[in-house]
Amino acid sequence: MLHKGKTALVTGSTSGIGKAIAKAFAREGANVVLNGLVKPGEDEALVKEFKSEFDVEVGFSGANLTDPEAIEGLIGYTVREFGGVDILANNAGVQHVSPIEDFPVDKWDLIIALNLTAAFHTTRMVMGPMKEKGWGRIINTASAHALVASPFKSAYVAAKHGIAGLTKVVALEGAQSGVRCNAICPGYVHTPLVDAQIADTARARGISEEEVKQTVLLAAQPTKEFVTAEQVGDMAVFLTSPSANQINGALMQMDGGWVAQ
Ligand code: NAD
Repeated sequence: MLHKGKTALVTGSTSGIGKAIAKAFAREGANVVLNGLVKPGEDEALVKEFKSEFDVEVGFSGANLTDPEAIEGLIGYTVREFGGVDILANNAGVQHVSPIEDFPVDKWDLIIALNLTAAFHTTRMVMGPMKEKGWGRIINTASAHALVASPFKSAYVAAKHGIAGLTKVVALEGAQSGVRCNAICPGYVHTPLVDAQIADTARARGISEEEVKQTVLLAAQPTKEFVTAEQVGDMAVFLTSPSANQINGALMQMDGGWVAQ
């Protein structure tokens, strides 16, 4: 097991990609701190699910990552209960699809706060201790939209391009202290986030949901297949392995060839 005794904090890990990343680290023996917005009781069920599958410690924080004070609370909880953060996966994110002239200002603010600024806050809080320890791994869930744009996704594409830049800066700052920072850039992964997007895109473009899947989402992906959340989890683990020690500041494409076009 690669990470026995280490602690992985994965933001936005109550569903989709984050949950798969958290499971991939738990499989490697890491204790995991889960985070996300949940309905009452869902957190206990999630912790129970992880504990039944993996012999590791599992924590949960419902911190709303649009609030810097809540992020401080999340990091404080992880330090108190788990002794610190060895692996940080900045993954929480939301999407909103709309032409820019109608783009709701509150949605712009939400997406920039959650998809970009939250990663700044978590990173600034864990970076010092990671450097002191001489080991730390930061994985940012970016997107193919960190590298290329699509119409109607102004906030998301701006945030994801921003996280690509943040990834590179953190990689440089940690390079000689045993800290590595990389981003994973998935194409379309079938998760609840994408389900919501299918409906929104159908409305924005005035076409059916099936047409959105075939002609908008998978049209971009030469393999014509969705990426799986488990594949992203496996990539996250690889990026924390000794084989990946010289991978730093990389934007790892996992998009069936989308951005190669
Ligand atoms: P998802 O909707 O399944 O999960 C999102 C997670 O973020 C959930 O755990 C949710 O509770 C959490 N979250 C939402 N708002 C939050 C808040 N204010 N504070 C704390 N947590 C919050 O989405 P997903 O598809 O798994 O997306 C995860 C990440 O992957 C996002 O950053 C997304 O941009 C990125 N991504 C997704 C795809 C895709 O096709 N699904 C592709 C590329 C990148």
